[in-house]
Amino acid sequence: MTTTTERKAPDFMQIVAREKLGEKAKDWQIFRWERIGDGNDFVVGFGQTRLKTSGKNKGETTWRGIDGRQLPHGKVVVTGAEMDAARAKYETDTGHCGECGGTGQAWCGWSAAEGTKYRTCHRCNGTGKAQGDRSLEQL
Ligand SMILES: [Zn+2]
Repeated sequence: MTTTTERKAPDFMQIVAREKLGEKAKDWQIFRWERIGDGNDFVVGFGQTRLKTSGKNKGETTWRGIDGRQLPHGKVVVTGAEMDAARAKYETDTGHCGECGGTGQAWCGWSAAEGTKYRTCHRCNGTGKAQGDRSLEQL
């Protein structure tokens, strides 16, 4: 696992998907997603994970058991509206911007020479504060 302490907004797709599948999926992680419909909605595949205990990728997350078979998993539809609602709830609960998690910076790329690159978060304009009733349609 990584040891980064970098703060960022939660993965709202994952939050909504977990809520839909309930208790059994509370620590499941997304392994794939596809856009469907008009592009705002997604089919999300996610499932139980474990950390590899041997081999050159030791410590990495895998969705397969030691016998090579996929661990318990499921598929669920997550709509853009549901993710917007989850983000709004996060902003209300924490007071942090739901795009950058309160850092005021949004990740925008990576290169070996420069490392991780950031730009000013467009949602909060770099303040890191929740935008309250500023609706997503304006963005
Ligand atoms: Zn922000």
